[in-house]
Amino acid sequence: MKPVKETTWIIDTHNGSLTVEGLHQSELKMVTSDLLPTGKQVNCARPINTPKLNPSFVQITNSEPSLRVFRIYHHSVVEGPGRRSVLQTVGCSIRCDGCIVPETHDPNGGVEMPISEIVEMLLDSQGEPRDGITILGGEPFLQLNGLLALMQALRDKDQHLTVYTGYTIEQLISRSESVVRRILELTDILIDGPFIKELSEGSGEWVGSTNQRLIYHPSQYSSSDCSE
Ligand code: SF4
Repeated sequence: MKPVKETTWIIDTHNGSLTVEGLHQSELKMVTSDLLPTGKQVNCARPINTPKLNPSFVQITNSEPSLRVFRIYHHSVVEGPGRRSVLQTVGCSIRCDGCIVPETHDPNGGVEMPISEIVEMLLDSQGEPRDGITILGGEPFLQLNGLLALMQALRDKDQHLTVYTGYTIEQLISRSESVVRRILELTDILIDGPFIKELSEGSGEWVGSTNQRLIYHPSQYSSSDCSE
């Protein structure tokens, strides 16, 4: 017997839009063609209609903390709780087989932006409501100082912070840099671990494969805090 596919259906209570995770567009059409209009393919971390960052507008001064950024977008309902504004950083050397965002791997890609400008863009969701900020990659933990400065600035604005990483929490807490510990203290939810293609079926909400864990308040991590 063919295994049953797990799907997640998310209704945005603000604008009524429906996001379905776990089905290809053609499968969704088969299930809903007489009920719903034709949908659009979105994909986690690959939103449509994302404005391209323009390097010519970005001025960095030596004293200002910065991050290399691939893109910034709003209204994501698949990368953490509620509706979120999202920052996608560049640079990743983990190279998971089947990674859906290989265009973020080059550490010299994207645009280097001052933290103040990133904060301004993330908090400007054109008046739409927002439940928090998600930071993903690439690999955010490759840019420790910029990441810490950004998270501190967002926390000062009372934002809920979800961070994705291809490292496991055990790898992160074994690192000696105090800045890693501080980033974990500022993180409300850490989604950890590499993407493993063979474990992608039925991974559920927010994660790409079943090995990845939702860790609430990761600075106080103990294995019983994980929701796998
Ligand atoms: S950690 Fe993330 S960005 Fe890096 S290779 Fe794996 S899935 Fe891709």
